[in-house]
Amino acid sequence: MEKEYKSNDYIVRMTAAGLQLRAFAISSGDMCEFARSCHGTSPVATAALGRLLTAGAMMGSMQKNAADMLTLQIRCDGPIGGLTVTADGKGHVKGYVNNPVFEGYARADHKLDVGGALGYGTLTVIRDLGLKEPFAGTSELVTGEIAEDLTYYFATSEQIPSAVGLGVLLKKETGEVKCAGGFIIQAMPEASDETLTRLEQNLAGVTSVTDLLDRGMSPEQILEQILEGLDPKTEQRSESVFYCDCSRKKIAKVLYSLNEKDLAELMEEDRDVEVKCHFCNSAYQFSPDTIREIYEERKKDR
Ligand SMILES: [Zn+2]
Repeated sequence: MEKEYKSNDYIVRMTAAGLQLRAFAISSGDMCEFARSCHGTSPVATAALGRLLTAGAMMGSMQKNAADMLTLQIRCDGPIGGLTVTADGKGHVKGYVNNPVFEGYARADHKLDVGGALGYGTLTVIRDLGLKEPFAGTSELVTGEIAEDLTYYFATSEQIPSAVGLGVLLKKETGEVKCAGGFIIQAMPEASDETLTRLEQNLAGVTSVTDLLDRGMSPEQILEQILEGLDPKTEQRSESVFYCDCSRKKIAKVLYSLNEKDLAELMEEDRDVEVKCHFCNSAYQFSPDTIREIYEERKKDR
């Protein structure tokens, strides 16, 4: 990754009602703004990518091992074309949207129409635990607003009743991210009806995450409000950051993996080749000489 940025984003993990509930909340404004600046996203694409990054960062932190990798992939028929977010267990998250410049449809209430930009499609969650085969679960998009789609995914694919809230608030004038954040509350199998009823009542009082964020609430305060009367206990607070592990060497491997014909064509063009990383949009230049070296090496290896 070429660029660096200063991040104040963090995730809070709590339990409540003994261990009947587990809860996560994040402030993700810095990672969402960084993603916007890397990818040059339109407001609706900023909101869509920001929401999925926010969710991915929290879900990444739920993993047991730091090296476990989680990928959230949305395939959809709307103009945004799809989104991919990857997170590890160390608070690193990265992602991109297929069509970052789609300007979006106008909504009567002037809110960004993320659902309209995504259209119909599927959400796939891939968990790579370092075993032979990664585990993948897929569910249909319900609204395309992402939080509802994740709630549905947790219920149908993982059988975990969950409440998910995600919000990305933009500055009207510039389209930059003002603040972003979200929460995930999950009921464990032993959760009592009493606990769930109270949780539902509390959640009914939460109008939207964007409202909470706009009031300047921290992740702790958001969870304390949602878990009020359920004896919430903070388990962990950890940093989270947009981070891409791409490098010149890794991108050179991508060139190396091209088929011989494509590589020969690139070589014949005899000019600098620029390859951009999907995840962070860093650009890597390769001179004609380097392309030739890669081609020769590739040929030798056959
Ligand atoms: Zn990258």
